[in-house]
Amino acid sequence: MKCGYVALIGKPNVGKSTLLNSVIGEKIAIVTEKPQTTRNRIIGIKNLPDAQIIFVDTPGIHKPRHKLGEFMVKEAHQAMDMVDLIVFMVEPQSPSEGEFSIIEKLKKINKPVILAINKIDTVSKQSLLPLIDSYKDLYSFKEIIPISALKNDGVERLIERVIYYIPESPKLYPEDMLTDQAERFLVSEFIREKVMKYTYDEIPYSVAVEIENWEESEKLLRIGANIYVEREGQKIIIIGKKGERLKKIAQEARLEIERFLQTKVFLEVWVKVRKKWRQRDMLLKSLGY
Ligand code: GDP
Ligand code: MG
Repeated sequence: MKCGYVALIGKPNVGKSTLLNSVIGEKIAIVTEKPQTTRNRIIGIKNLPDAQIIFVDTPGIHKPRHKLGEFMVKEAHQAMDMVDLIVFMVEPQSPSEGEFSIIEKLKKINKPVILAINKIDTVSKQSLLPLIDSYKDLYSFKEIIPISALKNDGVERLIERVIYYIPESPKLYPEDMLTDQAERFLVSEFIREKVMKYTYDEIPYSVAVEIENWEESEKLLRIGANIYVEREGQKIIIIGKKGERLKKIAQEARLEIERFLQTKVFLEVWVKVRKKWRQRDMLLKSLGY
């Protein structure tokens, strides 16, 4: 039996959460087309007959501009320290500043690293070979594996190689466990994903979601959630004309929650202003960051 922890690291938006969901076969990490969607470390457990892989999805490594950003980058760095293997994900483009700085960090921690070149569905096969060569020059990766997390291409081979590099060990988690995230956290994330989907500029990043109320009865789960923003103007935008935008956000989130929890859900959301919450330690803590 093999079992070990594997960190998914890389710049924001390279497809780490997409890969996690694809491997686990359930949506446990939210995905948007916007960078810096993931804020916390999220564990996803892949159970196979003779292996258990514990993936740790991380926020993208970037230069933080506020305390929330600092928390996010710290989450990624801590994940790298706790794992047996690192999967470093990149886009199918020449390495640049962001990749160089992550490689510097990799050199310091000295753990086996697999390079996964993602989104190969967007480039030609010929362009991959020179790219693989340029990465070979930068670091002694154990493997370099081109994949498409979205199209599930190359993912099986990646899993195979991951199993090869994790230690012999009994399973660390029960077999029916997919994630260590509580249902409430996942629900708040589904809501945040929909807010991010329907808002632009600074707003997606100024949003935090808190579950305030959770009442389960036989046939219905009642959930009350607060969507926090930093300014009054942002609140007005999220609510939208005659509440249209907020309605759409809540409706899509509810469908996703119902699908995930397999139960009927009554979802109520309120938008509230918490000035500069991304900069204030106390507020960050109270929102789980
Ligand atoms: P993360 O920030 O690294 O977790 O990236 P996400 O998983 O949130 O994905 C960012 C964006 O890239 C989303 O719009 C995904 O749909 C897209 N994406 C992820 N993997 C692939 C892929 O293999 N091919 C393509 N074309 N897009 C992808
Ligand atoms: Mg992510």
